[in-house]
Amino acid sequence: MDIKNKILYDKLNERQRQAVFCTEGPLLILAGAGSGKTNVLIHRIAYLIQEKNIEPYNIMAVTFTNKAADEMKERLKGLVGHEAQQIWAATFHSSCVRILRRYIDRLGFNTNFSIYDADDQKTLMKRIFKEMPANTADLKERNVLRAISAYKDELISPSDALKYACGFAEKNNALLYEKYQSELRKNNALDFDDLINKCVELFEKNEDVLEFYQKRLKYIMVDEYQDTNTSQFRLIELLASSHKNLCVVGDDDQSIYRFRGANIENILSFEKIFKDTKVVRLEQNYRSTAAILDVANNVISNNVKRKEKKLWTDKKGGAKVKLKEFENGDQEASGILKEIASKAKKSSLNDFALLYRTNAQSRLFEEKCVNYGIPYRLVGGVNFYQRKEIKDILAYLKVISNSKDDIAVLRVINTPKRGIGETSLGKISSFASEFNINFYEACLNSWQIPSIGKTAYKIKSFTDFIEKARKELAKIDISDISDNIVYKNGDMDNFYNEAYKDTDIPDLLQSGDDKRVSDIINYILDEGGYRDYLMLEGDTQAQSRLENIKELISKAQMYKASLLDIFLEETSLIADVDTTDKSAQMLTLMTLHGAKGLEFEYVYMCGMEEELLPCTMSIASGDEADIEEERRLCYVGMTRAKKQLVLSYAKKRLINGGFDYKEVSRFIREIPPQLLDTDIKNELLHQGINRKKSVYIAGYNTNPYKQFNKSLPFGKEFIVKKSEKPDYKAGDMVRHIKFGEGEVLSITEGKKDYEIEVNFKKSGIKKMMAGFAKLEKM
Ligand code: ATP
Ligand code: MG
Repeated sequence: MDIKNKILYDKLNERQRQAVFCTEGPLLILAGAGSGKTNVLIHRIAYLIQEKNIEPYNIMAVTFTNKAADEMKERLKGLVGHEAQQIWAATFHSSCVRILRRYIDRLGFNTNFSIYDADDQKTLMKRIFKEMPANTADLKERNVLRAISAYKDELISPSDALKYACGFAEKNNALLYEKYQSELRKNNALDFDDLINKCVELFEKNEDVLEFYQKRLKYIMVDEYQDTNTSQFRLIELLASSHKNLCVVGDDDQSIYRFRGANIENILSFEKIFKDTKVVRLEQNYRSTAAILDVANNVISNNVKRKEKKLWTDKKGGAKVKLKEFENGDQEASGILKEIASKAKKSSLNDFALLYRTNAQSRLFEEKCVNYGIPYRLVGGVNFYQRKEIKDILAYLKVISNSKDDIAVLRVINTPKRGIGETSLGKISSFASEFNINFYEACLNSWQIPSIGKTAYKIKSFTDFIEKARKELAKIDISDISDNIVYKNGDMDNFYNEAYKDTDIPDLLQSGDDKRVSDIINYILDEGGYRDYLMLEGDTQAQSRLENIKELISKAQMYKASLLDIFLEETSLIADVDTTDKSAQMLTLMTLHGAKGLEFEYVYMCGMEEELLPCTMSIASGDEADIEEERRLCYVGMTRAKKQLVLSYAKKRLINGGFDYKEVSRFIREIPPQLLDTDIKNELLHQGINRKKSVYIAGYNTNPYKQFNKSLPFGKEFIVKKSEKPDYKAGDMVRHIKFGEGEVLSITEGKKDYEIEVNFKKSGIKKMMAGFAKLEKM
């Protein structure tokens, strides 16, 4: 080992080095927050390349967010230089897109498939609801999509879902799942879950493809492994099954995506699935001071289901964790932001993060940031790619790239207005389903649509517009170049030339045609009339909308028009966390989920109240596992802080025009008072500071969480209205939306509601409040 590298590895501690040097066979690195897991992973890759002479091309590192993947690439570049570009460092989703773009035709899709985001999924589901009224009455699209996603997380196909469904509701969901999948296929589209699942299916059905990738990806590493779900695990298992050089790093205490199917079993049973696994545990935390770590350890130790571990740090002492109480949410926002503004004078705003449980909590802070002139970056919320004008332009590009994408066609066919109304759209739809063709194909044959009349001219002008873009600008046929696509901002052309010196670079990339994706966007703005449409709509935001499009254009300038697919792919995979620009000085606002893996000098966690953290849903479910997940989320938040952690809560909050009295979070009460720097008296804290519970207005609420009527004066208390007596009794069978069927064991009358004890067939005995549980008598 040369001396430079020796110094590099000498900086690691004994255990970390052990993990870095153990390169062959399955390796599980299980360690708490800030113990250098990601750091080890990066050094391990450097070690493989520099000391073991492994080709960077043969190394794969998978993470969950594009930001994490970019950071990883950045740090690898620092360690191994330009070779880092050839490492397959990507998210699960973009890795799968890369594979599918090359091989999905084996599953009967075109390689230029569209990727549907949550919005597109909902639009598609709305259409299904219209088509299948009998199956969808009283249902919500969101809930059906959630059920479908749960099937997909577990790799359950529609036919298996149908086979094993019991009871009407489950059967119905399975039917809708089947319909939804067939619609996706018709549109040549995949949703996010499908990206993983189709890749698994591809590997399971095509041994040669699997072998190709097994040979290519000889060393596989997975960061944040605790958040993988069953299908992601299966994918990794398949890829690693021949060489078994799989290293996963994770922390069971930071598993926070159970609701999205993340399966903690994947960690707990790794050693069983991969025989002869070496396990390395890291216990030294390098991120936070002892004061912060002590608090976090105390909270997480209340979880029963966890692998016992204790983190330590040699950063002794440090400022105590602060706990601040505010009269109301408004004062909390002002108080916290003033403190941040004054502290930031001595350091940088980039060192500060403000974390909260739900996106909605950001609004107050954003308003105050604007008032006080504090620049902030909002991670999550309505992200750039979710804005209407951006979605419109992207939908146009999608139609140009893949005209089978009905959802995209429907979005733009009458935007700007072309006089093609709902009735005509209905006629086109019926024609399309009668002949089993796509919506756009029907448009191309508009003259044959019965009773369409003169609208046919209007439809033709739309299809002419698209066809012209396709022929003259896009000239798309990139189906066979997509392996090795790296998602990289910047000069794609150079990248290709650099990375594929020795491989078969498609002629396309070197052809003289220099039309850019930005030219297509300008064509949409000018010839498509989109610019006039924005201006004529008289929208006060027209100017800012155009600014946003300009921003998209500047990105699009980096892509040749023939790489439109790649451009679309990259934009559709951008997750919330990724749009942050590190260069500017800004305060970061984000949810606890978004903060995973990141670190900041100063962390403020606000809204530390019951019904916010833990959130209402988790309390109401009556399932202790849900509370444990919230506790892990709290732990993730706390362990982001390097120097100082500040916790805050408000005594009351304005909700629906009235004040809702809040109780301090149970997680705060789990912290030994001597570890906190606070004015609040210990006894008060431990009794729960705000004993006063929420109050309800007689006659108004059926839902106890919509407490106040707008016209009532703030803060005034009213008579409590009690929930209605349930229509079931002990011994009856009932159904719960999450737990399924169960038998009612007892019903106890409480002050506000009835407490129900149910023995669920699948998940055992649970206690829940009737008002929330919404049990349905069978
Ligand atoms: P998380 O669980 O939050 O993802 P992690 O275990 O991945 O955390 P890292 O982000 O890799 O931890 O490291 C946390 C911090 O500790 C980083 O700032 C990293 O640079 C630093 N660090 C890691 N190992 C060492 C070491 N041996 N010496 C000094 N600093 C280290
Ligand atoms: Mg990490």
